[in-house]
Amino acid sequence: MSTLSIIAITGTPGVGKTTIVELFSDANFTILSVKDLAKQYDCEGDFDEVTQSIDIDIHRLAEKFEADSKGDTIVDGHLSHLLDVDAIIILRCKPSILQERLAKRGYTEQKITANVEWEMIAGTWSEIIEFELDQSILELDTTNCEPGEIFVAITQWINDGYSQDSTNPRIDWLAE
Ligand code: ADP
Ligand code: MG
Repeated sequence: MSTLSIIAITGTPGVGKTTIVELFSDANFTILSVKDLAKQYDCEGDFDEVTQSIDIDIHRLAEKFEADSKGDTIVDGHLSHLLDVDAIIILRCKPSILQERLAKRGYTEQKITANVEWEMIAGTWSEIIEFELDQSILELDTTNCEPGEIFVAITQWINDGYSQDSTNPRIDWLAE
């Protein structure tokens, strides 16, 4: 018997979440983003000058959000792992490359530094460990992989039933 699943695709801004998620839009998945859900469920806060983005009350969203779809769902967003999901994909990117990607996006120096440091210390993982999240986790390095290759790896993991790939970060940028 198969049940519908909600999969979070998370990781520091710039690691490639939205790029990958777009590849799944043709593959019978419902694609959602934390940003849109926050709007839909009235979980947006004030505009934060430092991050240059609207704050999201992710814990309130986690209480309100219920998937309402006919198929499996993928939720895109760097806070998506904090929603009530069945499995988590964490994308990673080498900090020096992430810096280039974010600079191209026109982010402020301050915002680039904050995100590069978050990636450097595996910030997403520290939240997963802090909140004792016990879903199956797949961690993938997007630094030198084409989006298509990442799509294949994720599809294989989904088809294999989201087996636990890792309970701790296998990628350690500080050790490089
Ligand atoms: P996120 O949604 O995680 O913030 P995006 O998908 O918007 O990240 O990607 C950020 C930038 O990195 C974009 O310019 C995108 O073209 C580029 N990018 C994304 N994935 C890859 C990849 N696998 N290899 C090289 N560049 C990538
Ligand atoms: Mg994105």
